[in-house]
Amino acid sequence: MATFKDFRNNVKPNWCPGCGDFSVQAAIQRAAANVGLEPENLAVISGIGCSGRISGYINAYGFHGIHGRALPIAQGVKLANRELTVIASGGDGDGFAIGMAHTVHAIRRNLDITYIVMDNQIYGLTKGQTSPRSAVGFKTKSTPQGSIESPLSPLEIAMAAGATFVAQSFSSDLKQLTSLIEQGIQHKGFALINVFSPCVTFNKVNTYDWFKENIVNLDQFPDYDPTNRVAAMNKIMETNGMLTGLIYRDTTRKSYEDLIPGFREEGLYRQDLRLDQSQFEEL
Ligand code: SF4
Ligand code: MG
Repeated sequence: MATFKDFRNNVKPNWCPGCGDFSVQAAIQRAAANVGLEPENLAVISGIGCSGRISGYINAYGFHGIHGRALPIAQGVKLANRELTVIASGGDGDGFAIGMAHTVHAIRRNLDITYIVMDNQIYGLTKGQTSPRSAVGFKTKSTPQGSIESPLSPLEIAMAAGATFVAQSFSSDLKQLTSLIEQGIQHKGFALINVFSPCVTFNKVNTYDWFKENIVNLDQFPDYDPTNRVAAMNKIMETNGMLTGLIYRDTTRKSYEDLIPGFREEGLYRQDLRLDQSQFEEL
């Protein structure tokens, strides 16, 4: 059985020292091992941004896609090889700006994919511009007087789009993040996990200390019921989107795959699209 070390490869990440994305990578590797996957069972599909590099740093199938398009690729991978566990990943700029339409429609489509967003409230790869997650007043090269746009709430959008699994975590909380990724992988449907993953180089406002002061961990509310959709929406609004933990899960709705007649039956599996070893060697 694989351990998290089996999901490591020999590529050295070129993230800045202290970047939150290191912990997200470690959490994915641990979660994959903890749920019993082998590297050949997993595909990590990423978009563009610092976080998009993650698909190259994990020993599994990987595809570094184009900006905002991790989800269309991930959905294609899942439909073509339904036996794979598929994780899509990217940043807040990737998923909540150029890719937002894909995010909303992937959520409502409810394919069995886990989508991990490394949310650092800035564009890091292009050296620090305001993102759709930046707060009003946030000063960067693109908003030198401070942002005058209201930030998006991905959790509220996900709930409104009919999400069946919504969670949020903090890259410093490796235990919680690993557990949520495990639950997301095991959820039969689309799982959105938004992760506060600080950009230590360009975001000097939303720092590790800032998150520690502002995060509201759902563990503080032992009576919280993550199956109650109205309660989930209320809690997101009450905490101004700063809550962490499992926010909502609906296990009653069928996944996209389960609504396609015969999709899971061996007889309808697209064997005709697969080459056996001898055909492969002839190529
Ligand atoms: Fe991480 Fe920011 Fe450096 Fe990109 S620029 S690697 S997001 S710390
Ligand atoms: Mg970002």
